[in-house]
Amino acid sequence: MDLQQFQDIKQLLSTPKKIAIIPHRNPDGDAYGSCLALYSYLLKFNHEAIVVSPNDCPDFLKWLPEEDKIVIFENTEEKATKILNEADIIFTLDFNALHRVGEKMQKVLEAVKPIYVMIDHHQEPDKYAMFTYSDSEICSTCQMVYQFIEKLEHLNYIDKNIATCLYTGILTDTGSFRFSATNSKTHRIVAELLDKGADNTKIYNNIHDVNTYNRLQLLSKSLQNLQVLEKYKTAYITLSQKELDDLNFQKGDTEGFVNYALSLKNVIFAVIFIEDRKQKIIKISFRSVGEFSVNKFSRNHFNGGGHTNAAGGRSDVSLKDTVAKFIDLLPNYKDELLEINE
Ligand code: 5GP
Ligand code: MN
Repeated sequence: MDLQQFQDIKQLLSTPKKIAIIPHRNPDGDAYGSCLALYSYLLKFNHEAIVVSPNDCPDFLKWLPEEDKIVIFENTEEKATKILNEADIIFTLDFNALHRVGEKMQKVLEAVKPIYVMIDHHQEPDKYAMFTYSDSEICSTCQMVYQFIEKLEHLNYIDKNIATCLYTGILTDTGSFRFSATNSKTHRIVAELLDKGADNTKIYNNIHDVNTYNRLQLLSKSLQNLQVLEKYKTAYITLSQKELDDLNFQKGDTEGFVNYALSLKNVIFAVIFIEDRKQKIIKISFRSVGEFSVNKFSRNHFNGGGHTNAAGGRSDVSLKDTVAKFIDLLPNYKDELLEINE
């Protein structure tokens, strides 16, 4: 997005507007962090702003400042639809294709005619927004929201709550500052956020020190189910609905499990397949190290996408058939998987 467009948005926001801010379905730290930061920022300019989330977040995000003000589409469809219908501006954050909000909410979004503003860091954005601030080289949407506020020359409006939300998303989307999109600029921004009052120790603990006994048992089950395909430098984990039920699965419990598969020496491609009987799908998370693009792999075969090294996808056939399809695909990628230097 060029400077003129940032100026146009600044102009647009110079008088109070009705604004809805939307994260993707199954919101993570970056999705909720960016939405809530933008929400608190917009309220400072007397806008009538509200975050409308397709569904609820995991418990480890429930402490985020103003999280309790979020309207959940899935729980209060009528109220949420009214807000979306009446909005002058809709910001879509941390996703770049309307289907990422789920079928019902997607239909509502396609029917309304607000000014759409996308702020997102995934590859290959769809073209639904009047303003598309998209950059797949930036580690997180939270860093982009910081830069957005910077372009509007409003960094002095960042308070402790906004800093906390932005820090959270940068922390979670960079795997605690270790993924490759983390650079010196990210650290400079993080330093600013600490100066504005973000409490790094508290935020880390809020997110990570929330294990339950059942979650650890579920991790144990995942590691028992871990399969390694040495000749493809690939490892995968499966979790069936029964296994999830037996261990009283709660939203967010499987977060990060796929990284155990990726941490294996000589593995550069890791996958977790999780059965969801309610939605009648297998939810898949793909991770890679180096140049092997899981974004492309997921787009081509599993109706998903994301980033080069982290993507999501889904499958409509059984867990067993999904894994079989996956294994059948690997020979086509053998050269790519073996050529790539770690
Ligand atoms: P996760 O595996 O943690 O659900 O997602 C990894 C990354 O891929 C995240 O950046 C997430 O937003 C993105 N992602 C997850 N599922 C999908 C999907 O179905 N489509 C697309 N385009 N991106 C996804
Ligand atoms: Mn993100």
